[in-house]
Amino acid sequence: MKAIAVYPGKPNSVHLCDVPDPNVKDIAGGRGVLVKVLRVGVDGTDKEINAAEYGAAPPGDDYLIMGHESFGRVQEVGPNVGEFEPGDYVAALVRRPGSSFYDQIGAQDMTTDDTYFERGINLRHGFLAEYYVDSADFLIKVPEGLKAIGVLMEPTSIAQKAIRQAYEIQRRLAIWRPQRAAVVGAGSLGLLASLFLRLRGLKVVTLALSEPPTQNSELLTEIGVTYVSTRQKSLKQASEEFGPFDLIIEGSGFSPLVFEAMETLGKNGVLTMVSVTGGERKIEIPADKINQGFVLGNKVAVGCVNAGRVDFERGVQDLAQAELAYPGWLSKLLTHPVKGLENYEELIRTLTETKAAIKVFCEVAPLS
Ligand code: BGC
Ligand code: ZN
Repeated sequence: MKAIAVYPGKPNSVHLCDVPDPNVKDIAGGRGVLVKVLRVGVDGTDKEINAAEYGAAPPGDDYLIMGHESFGRVQEVGPNVGEFEPGDYVAALVRRPGSSFYDQIGAQDMTTDDTYFERGINLRHGFLAEYYVDSADFLIKVPEGLKAIGVLMEPTSIAQKAIRQAYEIQRRLAIWRPQRAAVVGAGSLGLLASLFLRLRGLKVVTLALSEPPTQNSELLTEIGVTYVSTRQKSLKQASEEFGPFDLIIEGSGFSPLVFEAMETLGKNGVLTMVSVTGGERKIEIPADKINQGFVLGNKVAVGCVNAGRVDFERGVQDLAQAELAYPGWLSKLLTHPVKGLENYEELIRTLTETKAAIKVFCEVAPLS
C-alpha cells in the first residue's frame, strides 16, 4: 500500500513509498483492528519531523510513516475484539506504552520513561497510509454524525488533557469555580481549547500575534471569545482588563510567554503549558516577583503532553456538544484539505507555507 514517509535525520525527505499491507493478525491476542484511513491532519510536529528536527524511525526501518492525527473506518477485527465492528469510525491514540508504572496502567501519556513511543512521531509508524492496524485498546469510536470533523479528534484530545489536568489539580481547592480563562495561541489547538472552555461556561480571552480581523479571530468572536493581538496588548494588559485569569493555557510555541503567564496568573490559578519548544531560547525573567506571586497566590503551573483515552472520550462528547451549541463552527477549522496520499508535496507545502491555514489534512479516502 501507499504511505507518506520521511527519513528521520534527513531534512525535507518526505516521499511516497510502498509498504507491506497491515493485517489484523499483526496484533497479538486476537485484538487487532484493521482500519481504512480516511483523513489525517498535520501540524507543527510534522513540520519539525520533515525538517529532521524531531522524530525517529521504528527499530529496523530507516523510514517513518508520518501522521498522528488519524480518522478512519474499521475494515476488519480480530477474534477477541468485541468493542468494534467493520464500518465503525475510529480515531487512534498516538502514544503506545513503554515500561513505567504509568504505561502499565494505560497512562502512557504520563510516562516517566526517557523513551516514548508515538505513532507517526517517535519509533512507531504513523497513519498517513491507506490502512493501519492497531490493538483495539488504542482506538476510540467516533459517532457517524461527527465523521465530517472526525479528523479533529487528536488535536481535540490534546486540548482536553490540558483542561482536564487543570481541573484535576484544582481539586486541591475545596471549591474551584473558574470564571475567566486565557488561551495563548490561536492555531487549531488554541481554537479548540477556547471552544471547550466556552462549553464549560468560562469567559475566554484568546491571545495571538496577528492583528484582527483574521479568520481565527473571527471564529473566536463567533463563539463569544475575546480575541487579543499581542501586538496591540500584552498578556499583562489583557489580564488587567479582562482578568484575573483563573486558568491560562499557554500553547503559543513562544516560551517567554510562559513566564509572562506565570506573572499574570490569578490567585489560586493554574497555568497549563502545552508547547513543545525545541529551541535554545534564553530570557531574563523577574524571578523574585514570579516566585513571590506563586507563593502568596497559591498558584500552580503544570506541563502537559499527549493525551489519554479519557481525553479522546471527553473530546467526542465536547465535539458533539459544540455541533449543537455552535453548528457548523468546527467544519470551518478544516481550511486546507489535500486530496490523496500522492499529493504529499502539496500537503507539506501547504503546512509549511500557508500561514492562514487552520487545519491542513490529507483526504486519504472519501468519508463514506
Ligand atoms: C502530538 C502529541 C505528542 C506531541 C509530542 C504533538 O504534536 O499531537 O500527541 O505527544 O506532539 O511528540
Ligand atoms: Zn500533534
